[in-house]
Amino acid sequence: MRLILLGPPGAGKGTQAQRLVEKHGIPQLSTGDMLRAAVANGTEVGKRAKAVMDAGELVSDDIVNAIVAERIDQPDCANGFILDGYPRTLAQADAVEAMLARRSLRLDVAIELVVDDKALVGRIVKRAEDAKAAGQPVRKDDNPEVFDERLREYYKKTAPLIGYYYAKGLLKGVDGMADIDAVTRQIDALLEDRALVTQ
Ligand code: AMP
Repeated sequence: MRLILLGPPGAGKGTQAQRLVEKHGIPQLSTGDMLRAAVANGTEVGKRAKAVMDAGELVSDDIVNAIVAERIDQPDCANGFILDGYPRTLAQADAVEAMLARRSLRLDVAIELVVDDKALVGRIVKRAEDAKAAGQPVRKDDNPEVFDERLREYYKKTAPLIGYYYAKGLLKGVDGMADIDAVTRQIDALLEDRALVTQ
């Protein structure tokens, strides 16, 4: 099963992706996590991405497409994967489609977590507070100032993907404002509905 989680920052993509990992045993491919690892490791990609990420803007399509193309050839992706935070532009959406087509694969579904923007900044602030309380590193972009730019980038560049996947018959929306377990149940139900899992 190859699926995409779509939604603005703070919509709950990462949380739901982790649950899907546990349930279906396929990996979460978070370009944000991969880029943060590149920054932490001081790689060439990390050096190019750091300032852009800190400003809440999007890293170039070429960089992220290359990261994903390499990642999906790893053995753990053989039975599928969950794309979290990728694709984020129409060019990335075309790129992943081409990448998969070259491997005779295709996406099964794009799940949009539909959320109320007003709630998002609060979630981001809470994520930063929780990380701090747990002694984990706090993301530099999880603050209200950078969040505004991340949300603008989402509407400008990523929201058009909703129409893109709708037109392909792949889009499914779930109520991302429901509590975490309820969102998980909605996702489980739609995967069963599309016969992507057998239970
Ligand atoms: P995330 O963890 O998904 O919120 O991503 C954090 C930051 O990494 C974003 O604000 C972007 O700067 C960068 N990033 C992550 N994924 C992508 C992507 N698919 N395209 C461009 N930039 C990305």
